[in-house]
Amino acid sequence: MNMQKFQAVRGMNDVLPEQSATWARLETFLKQGMQQYGYQEIRTPILESTDLFVRSIGEVTDIVEKEMYTFVDSLNGESLTLRPEATAACVRLAIQHHLLYNGPQRLWYMGPMFRHERPQKGRYRQFHQCGAEALGFSGPDVDAEMIVMTARLWERLGLTDVRLELNSIGDQAARQRHRQRLLAYLQVHQEQLDDDSRRRLHTNPLRILDSKNPQMAALVEDAPRLLDDLDDNSLQHFDALQTLLKKAGLSFHINHRLVRGLDYYNATVFEWTTTLLGAQSTICGGGRYDTLIEQLGGKPTPACGFAMGMERLLALMEASQQHTADLTGPDVYVIHQGEQAAIEAFVQADVLRQNGLNVVLHCGGGAFKQQFKRADACRAAWALIVGEEELSQQRVTLKPLRGQGPQSTVTMQQALALIRQEQHSPQFFGNLEDTHVRS
Ligand code: ATP
Ligand code: MG
Repeated sequence: MNMQKFQAVRGMNDVLPEQSATWARLETFLKQGMQQYGYQEIRTPILESTDLFVRSIGEVTDIVEKEMYTFVDSLNGESLTLRPEATAACVRLAIQHHLLYNGPQRLWYMGPMFRHERPQKGRYRQFHQCGAEALGFSGPDVDAEMIVMTARLWERLGLTDVRLELNSIGDQAARQRHRQRLLAYLQVHQEQLDDDSRRRLHTNPLRILDSKNPQMAALVEDAPRLLDDLDDNSLQHFDALQTLLKKAGLSFHINHRLVRGLDYYNATVFEWTTTLLGAQSTICGGGRYDTLIEQLGGKPTPACGFAMGMERLLALMEASQQHTADLTGPDVYVIHQGEQAAIEAFVQADVLRQNGLNVVLHCGGGAFKQQFKRADACRAAWALIVGEEELSQQRVTLKPLRGQGPQSTVTMQQALALIRQEQHSPQFFGNLEDTHVRS
């Protein structure tokens, strides 16, 4: 019979057992990092009304034009979209639940996002973002706080090949002035524009500067600079932000072409990039969006936020050799032989777990040799052996599997003490605690 073999949807990834521990550690690490700066977690639905994204991200953007998974709910005809990003949902949540009546809010989130892009390394149709949003803050201090927060995260992950790109895109009037100058420039060079850009010439010329087409690089490079059209407020804000970043010891590069792919930004925009991930080089991006909350029906409220791509972050960790190939397995793998010994092993494995250890009990019988193979394969630190002989002496044999130490036949009490003595904290993200206690 010709059975159909199912595959995950193109561009959407499974997380396999060998990867899930790294994911979980990264998640815990990011969560602690966010908490350290006073950010509180929110969780929003995967689906939102399509309009929410169209009105926030902007009609003439890659996301809204071609990347959204949109469908009509057949029950009521409502157009719904799988979230392509979370800022709009976060703002929707804050407005709906009147969060801003309690003053400014520092929020963070983590979870899957969906964009219908051409899948390639570092670019998926379901991917994960972790991001933060500071709602109700107008000063450059909160922009700086967010940028420093991300910088410290990279430091603690041991990522050195990262570069901070910074720009200010001013307020609406500044962008309007710039738009006129840019339009004039681009019209003179129309023959150099690619199809996408020609189409955007009159709808969203600013976005042309965001083009990834290498053939347009020279054109984009020589284009009029937004910085020359900036309003005084944005200029002051930008200056103050740079001062704070310098005080924090961060280096950054002002990138005049950085405009970001979403319409809601103003003033500060930033991206963290790396040279180690090929074309998908941005691991994190963000900026200020002072008009979005009002635009979505809330009271005028300034805000700032960023999102990082977790797949790219993990890829960068691997490329920087900060990724543990030798992720540890359980503390103990329990091996046994004989009917009574199997029962004893079953009971003792549970005792060890109640004492806080991670324990895998061998199930399904088999020769000692086979059982040891399994213990090695799951990268356990110790094998704990219950055979007929151990059973008769009310002892167990403890064999270290990672080090060279000798095996010993001991009581359960002694076994527990030995295992605890050797229990080492994981090296991966291990310096998180050190960072906390530094005075
Ligand atoms: P890109 O220019 O790479 O398309 P973007 O500007 O569309 O990125 P943002 O909307 O700013 O991305 O999302 C923030 C971060 O989320 C990106 O910097 C990136 O790390 C990650 N990201 C965005 N799209 C994808 C995707 N399709 N697959 C994996 N990660 C992604
Ligand atoms: Mg994109």
